[in-house]
Amino acid sequence: MDFTYSEKTEQLCARLRDFMDDHIMPRIGQWYEEVHAGTYPVSFMEDLKALAKEEGLWNLFLPGLRDDEPGTRLTNLEYAPLAEIMGRVPWSPEVFNCNAPDTGNMEVLHLFASEQQRAQWLVPLLNGEIRSAFAMTEPDVASSDATNIQTAIRRDGDHYVINGRKWFITNAHHPQCKVFIVMGKTDPDGDIYRQQSMVLVPMDTPGVELVRNVSVLNHHSPEGHSEVLFHDVRVPVSNLIGSEGDGFMIAQARLGPGRIHHCMRAIGMAEVCLELMVARSQERKTFGRYLHQHGSIAEWIARSRIEIEQARLLVLKTAAMIDEAGARGARKEISMIKVIAPTLLTTVADRAMQVFGAMGASPDTPLADFYTAGRVLRYADGPDEVHLQTIARLELKESRDSLLDAARFLAGSGR
Ligand SMILES: Cc1cc2nc3c(=O)[nH]c(=O)nc-3n(C[C@H](O)[C@H](O)[C@H](O)COP(=O)(O)OP(=O)(O)OC[C@H]3O[C@@H](n4cnc5c(N)ncnc54)[C@H](O)[C@@H]3O)c2cc1C
Repeated sequence: MDFTYSEKTEQLCARLRDFMDDHIMPRIGQWYEEVHAGTYPVSFMEDLKALAKEEGLWNLFLPGLRDDEPGTRLTNLEYAPLAEIMGRVPWSPEVFNCNAPDTGNMEVLHLFASEQQRAQWLVPLLNGEIRSAFAMTEPDVASSDATNIQTAIRRDGDHYVINGRKWFITNAHHPQCKVFIVMGKTDPDGDIYRQQSMVLVPMDTPGVELVRNVSVLNHHSPEGHSEVLFHDVRVPVSNLIGSEGDGFMIAQARLGPGRIHHCMRAIGMAEVCLELMVARSQERKTFGRYLHQHGSIAEWIARSRIEIEQARLLVLKTAAMIDEAGARGARKEISMIKVIAPTLLTTVADRAMQVFGAMGASPDTPLADFYTAGRVLRYADGPDEVHLQTIARLELKESRDSLLDAARFLAGSGR
């Protein structure tokens, strides 16, 4: 596999870096000030979105756009370095309409929505006019196994009636969030993978209640990881995505590319942690030496570089495999990178925090935010253990073909 960035990718990377330098970096302080003052979305967001669109840095994540849909048609492999650049400032992907969970939701609508659903929801999402949320996880059941989901989606004439409680629903507190994709059960007694369906629920439907914005590691996210109650929520049957019973299959399709977008951004964050660690270690001295002259810190720097390079290569391989074989063909790689990238981020962020001394735990560096992002990513889009189980299952399945070879090795060694 050749991972050399194409000329088109190099050009886009250069333009994106310039945009980040000129428009994003100078506004980091203001973003935090406004968010802490309770203003969200921040005042400059719409201006920056308009500028990004004008400059063709828009919807970079979605390969299969129609001719009439705005965006830059890139493969997952071409998108990888761009997502990495955006990851360096965690709020910046929204400027380019490349933020989760809207990206995953747009992919779902792109693949499965009816023409009417596309016009009502996908078009304004692709234009960045509204935001959306994906509501699967429930407090009352272990949601890493999506077959456990209990929310009821009951047919009543021309409507579905939805009852259930969800939490950790990212974006639900975003003031521009207008629609949920809700996963629930239309056929609780059916085949275990055909019980679930997905429906579009406009935010302003009676019975939708935002209960609270749940903080993560005591970190407040302005867009929310929210607890949401659906109480006798009625939507027309035309709001069903695909057919009844497609929910599990759509959930699987949704999480393929979306999972690796998180990993691409995590690598960008890990790069910033390493840059800060290197810079700090060259300006602080203890016991007569710069910090990098102490062996332990030099080793952290070296190990961080090795681990980032390893993770990046696996992200690129995974992206190339999704392009060639689809998310299903890249299942093992998607799970592998989904385990590696969040741990890489927490490891490198943790080392950098240590090099900064107490300042590393303060809000005066982005390190604590990066650490938090890495740690919570170990649950979001499936906990590590579920991905490890997938990898082991596939490995065992593949190994059946090589059992004969293994037997030969054992025979050859005289045992
Ligand atoms: C920041 C953040 C954002 C999120 N955004 C969204 C969102 O927008 N929409 C949404 O629907 N959900 C979202 N989630 C929820 C996330 O997808 C779930 O937390 C995740 O799927 C795990 O479900 P659970 O929390 O119910 O854990 P449980 O299912 O209760 O699992 C608990 C633990 O059990 C262990 N475990 C599970 N299965 C296995 C296994 N096979 N082998 C060994 N151990 C196992 C794991 O350690 C796991 O962490 C978000 C979560 C976070 C932290």
